[in-house]
Amino acid sequence: MIKPLSPKDIVSSGLCIGCGSCVAQANLPGTQMKFDGYGELKPTGASAWYQRPSESFTRTCPFSPAAKNEDYLATNLYPLAKHQDAAIGRFQTAYVGYVAEEEFRLQGSSGGMVTWVANELLRQGLIDGVAHVVAAKDPQTEGRYFHYRISRTEAEIQEGAKSRYYPIELAQILQTIREVPGRYAVIGVPCFIKAVQLLRNEDPLFMERIPFTLGLFCGHMKSARFIESFAWQMNIPVKEIQQVEFRHKDPNRPANWYNAQLTLRDGSTVNRDWWHLKDGDWGAGFYMNSACNFCDDVVAETADISFGDAWVEPYSSDGKGTNVVVVRSPVVEQLVAAAIQAGRLQLDTVDNKFVEQTQAAGFRQRREGLAYRLTWSRQGVQPRKRVSPDSQTLTRQRKIIYRVRSFISAGSHRVFSYARRLQKPQLYFLWARLVAAVYHGLAYHQGNFSEMKKRFAQLKG
Ligand SMILES: Cc1cc2nc3c(=O)[nH]c(=O)nc-3n(C[C@H](O)[C@H](O)[C@H](O)COP(=O)(O)OP(=O)(O)OC[C@H]3O[C@@H](n4cnc5c(N)ncnc54)[C@H](O)[C@@H]3O)c2cc1C
Ligand code: SF4
Ligand code: SF4
Repeated sequence: MIKPLSPKDIVSSGLCIGCGSCVAQANLPGTQMKFDGYGELKPTGASAWYQRPSESFTRTCPFSPAAKNEDYLATNLYPLAKHQDAAIGRFQTAYVGYVAEEEFRLQGSSGGMVTWVANELLRQGLIDGVAHVVAAKDPQTEGRYFHYRISRTEAEIQEGAKSRYYPIELAQILQTIREVPGRYAVIGVPCFIKAVQLLRNEDPLFMERIPFTLGLFCGHMKSARFIESFAWQMNIPVKEIQQVEFRHKDPNRPANWYNAQLTLRDGSTVNRDWWHLKDGDWGAGFYMNSACNFCDDVVAETADISFGDAWVEPYSSDGKGTNVVVVRSPVVEQLVAAAIQAGRLQLDTVDNKFVEQTQAAGFRQRREGLAYRLTWSRQGVQPRKRVSPDSQTLTRQRKIIYRVRSFISAGSHRVFSYARRLQKPQLYFLWARLVAAVYHGLAYHQGNFSEMKKRFAQLKG
């Protein structure tokens, strides 16, 4: 039996992903999600709420050790699922491909499937609105570049296309769903979808009003400082940024050559390939939220349908973008199957192993990496995961990689914050170059020192 927890217990244990579910449930004036000093969203409010343990919070926070896990939730949601797999959960069908009709593929980060499914649910009259992430109209005034919004037309849904590696939260849109009757689909990363499912189990209103969930496969959540770091490295004043595209699409280049594009207030744009950014290697874990260290769901196992990038050849070289898709709900399965039949979607059936291969790095981090991290001693609330602690089966090399990644994640928040306070980007650059070079040497060249030196030199400037 786990004793009731408070939001403070989860936050101070480094387990808060910033979903906003607790704030939405509190529904109290002054209780809100706010950026902390590291550019991460955290719940804030009167201490009578923030520090008060509560049973409903303990059941519904996605990182609470007493919350039902993904296996339990998925079994209740999809009891008749055709397949059950340790990596991708319960599912009906899995596919690889893209949207064949209109401009969805070109406008999406990957194959455009998320926007297409959201649109199709609306077209078919199955929902009245979609909760998803859009760019802020005036980020400098709003104090954030992206936020959740409920879109109610196809044009509005289309405006949200593209992946946002940026903190966002559900508190306000859950309030809207509570206040405005209707049927809504929610799009989110796996832990956000878990939060929604836990809330649906807790409150019949959400069970009724959120009949569909669309999940995004997830590597990790970045802090808001990632954008500031882009600006520093591209020599742009942060205050001049009007728009951010994390993955600017160029059909003539491989899909996995991420290119960041900043649009400035005067309409001009600057771009940089992630590989040339000091903190642009996704695997190194820069700016990762500490809760992601304790995540074991890569593919949104509790979503009616989930989507990722097909990170295997020949798909990763195709700059137009290709999705992997896992369908769990029979209703969504029918909708997708009919569209394939009509030639509107170009999707081929694949098996669980294929999907797992497309996310090989994510599964390593969330299976063997998680098992190892669970053996490290830590303060506060102890996470309860579907993976058992294990420090025996990994090689020494893999253990060092997990240690270095964790060091980079935690260090990037602190060193950036320090450099930001002193207004000395060079301080952060030097640290980031050094740790990125060490990580690259370890992860890609078996600890080869001359490769580390080479990479350090490449990352200069
Ligand atoms: C933080 C994050 C990490 C990811 N990590 C991986 C990964 O490791 N492996 C992998 O294969 N795929 C990952 N993805 C998913 C991938 O980036 C694409 O979103 C996915 O392939 C769908 O592409 P699409 O072209 O079908 O979507 P699009 O048609 O471009 O539509 C994307 C939809 O998602 C919504 N959206 C964008 N950002 C967010 C967000 N942060 N939270 C909630 N909704 C959002 C948009 O509003 C839009 O409705 C990640 C996505 C995010 C946001
Ligand atoms: S993870 Fe979500 S529900 Fe839990 S404390 Fe953080 S914001 Fe609240
Ligand atoms: S890695 Fe897991 S915990 Fe982190 S944002 Fe993604 S789904 Fe949430």
